[in-house]
Amino acid sequence: MDYDVIIIGAGPGGIFACYELMKIKPDMKVAVFEAGHALSKRHCPIDGKKIKTCINCKSCSIMSGFGGAGAFSDGKYNITNDFGGTLYEYIGKKQALDLMRYVDEINMRYGGDGCKLYSTAGTRFKTLCIQHDLHLLDASVRHLGTDINYIVLKNIYTHLQDKVDFYFDTPVESVKIIAGGYSVKCKDATYSCEKCIVSVGRSGSKWMEKVCKELDIPTKSNRVDIGVRVELPAAVFAHLTDELYESKIVYRTEKYGDKVRTFCMNPKGAVVNENTNGIITVNGHSYEDPAKQTDNTNFALLVAKHFSEPFKDSNGYGESIARLSNMLGGGVIVQRFGDLIRGRRSTPSRMNDSFITPTLNATPGDLSLVLPKRILDGIIEMIYALDKVAPGTANDDTLLYGVEVKFYNMEVRVNEQLETCYPGLYIIGDGSGITHSLSHASASGVHVARNITEQVN
Ligand SMILES: Cc1cc2nc3c(=O)[nH]c(=O)nc-3n(C[C@H](O)[C@H](O)[C@H](O)COP(=O)(O)OP(=O)(O)OC[C@H]3O[C@@H](n4cnc5c(N)ncnc54)[C@H](O)[C@@H]3O)c2cc1C
Repeated sequence: MDYDVIIIGAGPGGIFACYELMKIKPDMKVAVFEAGHALSKRHCPIDGKKIKTCINCKSCSIMSGFGGAGAFSDGKYNITNDFGGTLYEYIGKKQALDLMRYVDEINMRYGGDGCKLYSTAGTRFKTLCIQHDLHLLDASVRHLGTDINYIVLKNIYTHLQDKVDFYFDTPVESVKIIAGGYSVKCKDATYSCEKCIVSVGRSGSKWMEKVCKELDIPTKSNRVDIGVRVELPAAVFAHLTDELYESKIVYRTEKYGDKVRTFCMNPKGAVVNENTNGIITVNGHSYEDPAKQTDNTNFALLVAKHFSEPFKDSNGYGESIARLSNMLGGGVIVQRFGDLIRGRRSTPSRMNDSFITPTLNATPGDLSLVLPKRILDGIIEMIYALDKVAPGTANDDTLLYGVEVKFYNMEVRVNEQLETCYPGLYIIGDGSGITHSLSHASASGVHVARNITEQVN
């Protein structure tokens, strides 16, 4: 065998698997194959001046490369079983939390020390929310910020680079079963290994589907989250964000009984484009460095859509809605809340008249032409509900960017070791459909690495 272990994908899942393997068994021969660039070469060309919108790079630096989708993320490591994935269903709640805390310790050791750990448990906001039929979920969140997150990744890479073979700009084409292990085929060469950890994240979702089909690994896919990214003056949410940083609030709509939730809150942050398989959606992040902060806070409002038989392509449904916004707006659409309520599109002049300056250059338009009525009604209801705990949320000038879609990878059938029906073939992180966050994906990597090293002992 060329390697003891091959890891496919250098996102948080792959990195933490690699880190833990090297920590416990430094003699192991490990290789990491990554479709995107090395960390130092990852640059999104959008500079807001010459290049204003996504130009569909061959490898999207926001989503791919060392650090995965997490490299330019806000670096919010939520330590909780309440959201961010269902890892606990496989490995138990206590172990999942222990692993997330372990990941946090490593992040602190590699440059995150000093970043604040926020906690929602037992705060007065829980009471305030519940009084208005809003439900604040419990979590501890370590906010590294985009800048410190990058430094942590850089330090971890420096620690690993001489111990492991990294192959960047090397997408894996296929994984095949061979006697005693697996063969991993890239464009110019094929490598063999005893154990293979697949951690290809959301950007590798289509590829993952193909691999599962080829190897006949059972999967299921029935969920997609659709919504908008809200941007408003930071002062509106300051009482919450100063104390909690991130608040995950869930609301059940009166009209349909659907659940709408806040997601990925970025105090004093910026709204950004996200490119998933060529479709432009919206996301957000913020910096720890005050010099890079803005006057606005952004967060997503998402409605989870679960489908039942016979429909199976939940991601296809989300993509079609995102494509509609791309068709009408040439990318992401932005609309003032006041315009949405009055049933009119936002125009450049209405945007100019507004008291809030958008942080993303999106096309003013009409989200009611894009989002299904049920989803839009839910979002509007939630904005009015949030207005009661954060007055100013339902202001006419509040900006809604659309669409934000959370694609869920199909869930791959694995056992409690995150191992497929093929011994030694593990599927972890967001690519497994089990995790949807930095801390859960990283924890899944540590879990699998420990399992592998136990077998070698
Ligand atoms: C803008 C943005 C902000 C975010 N903010 C947060 C946040 O604050 N907190 C949070 O918890 N989560 C956040 N997330 C989500 C978080 O980044 C992911 O949950 C996390 O990165 C998942 O880790 P992963 O290792 O499973 O996959 P990924 O990070 O997606 O990494 C997978 C890697 O595999 C590579 N790959 C794919 N296919 C192949 C192939 N065939 N061969 C080789 N390599 C391949 C990809 O290039 C990629 O680098 C954010 C995401 C984005 C895009």
